[in-house]
Amino acid sequence: MRDKEKEHQLGDFIKGRTLFIQEICKKKGLNFEDTQEAIRREAVRLAKRNERGEQLEKRLFGGAILASSYLPDWVDKFFLKAMTVVLQGPGSQLYTTSSKRPCIAFEAGRFNAHRQAEGVFHVFFVGKKPEEWLTGAFATIYRQCYGAKAAERLVSEQLSEKHFKIMLDNKDLEKAGPIDCSTVIGYLYGGLEKLGAKGIEVNHTKCAVLAGSIETHCIYDVTWK
Ligand SMILES: [Zn+2]
Repeated sequence: MRDKEKEHQLGDFIKGRTLFIQEICKKKGLNFEDTQEAIRREAVRLAKRNERGEQLEKRLFGGAILASSYLPDWVDKFFLKAMTVVLQGPGSQLYTTSSKRPCIAFEAGRFNAHRQAEGVFHVFFVGKKPEEWLTGAFATIYRQCYGAKAAERLVSEQLSEKHFKIMLDNKDLEKAGPIDCSTVIGYLYGGLEKLGAKGIEVNHTKCAVLAGSIETHCIYDVTWK
């Protein structure tokens, strides 16, 4: 039996990672199958250090993932790290704190916002103004990816017409970390892009999940023009 508290409906998010890899390969002229295999090997190697190798292989690479599939949240942590290492080279920047300095995890989040806006989450985007999306629909999408408990702690505060402060607390999720925060920056950025916002900036001004952090929430400052 799956543990509903620990697994979320991540199927479509994970499918999006694979499509993102495909897109990057196209742009960089890389062979997709070889790249995917290198990412799989790297992800399993990273997961083995946490005694998750076998489980990762089975859940993430063991068969077809459907949009409706439930998966443990930690699979994405190893997947994103492996993607960064393979696509950008070892030692490259794993995370960012601003949309002004994109990284692979940021781009993966942005990519998913774009495709989900036209796919599974179309209903949460269609006809919405950026401010409507940030006050309502974003929380619904967040809930699907992070679960009910984390979604209850989400605070979306409108500071002025085109300025929001989003507060998130996902410390109790195993995938929580600055790489995951980068995907949130990317998702907010990509979502607003899809809604026609211009001059978007998303800055992750306080992070609660960086090692040694004393913050209670991750704070995202979101502006557009
Ligand atoms: Zn953070």
